[in-house]
Amino acid sequence: MKIMYNSATCNHYGVCCEEAPELFSFAEDGSLRIQTYDIPPDLEDKARDACMMCPTQSIQVEEE
Ligand code: SF4
Repeated sequence: MKIMYNSATCNHYGVCCEEAPELFSFAEDGSLRIQTYDIPPDLEDKARDACMMCPTQSIQVEEE
């Protein structure tokens, strides 16, 4: 599974960071930091939840 991210539509409110802090956080400059775009199996459910919760659909999962 991979994460696709569109920084142009991200509102930087951080819902994804609350849902899956192992994957999403903010860098010091305020940009969204994605720990890895290749989601390890044990984090797939969290990644799916974070993507479903994103209010702007800026992050999406791509199933392989
Ligand atoms: S939940 Fe979506 S809009 Fe909000 S910070 Fe994460 S990627 Fe950006």
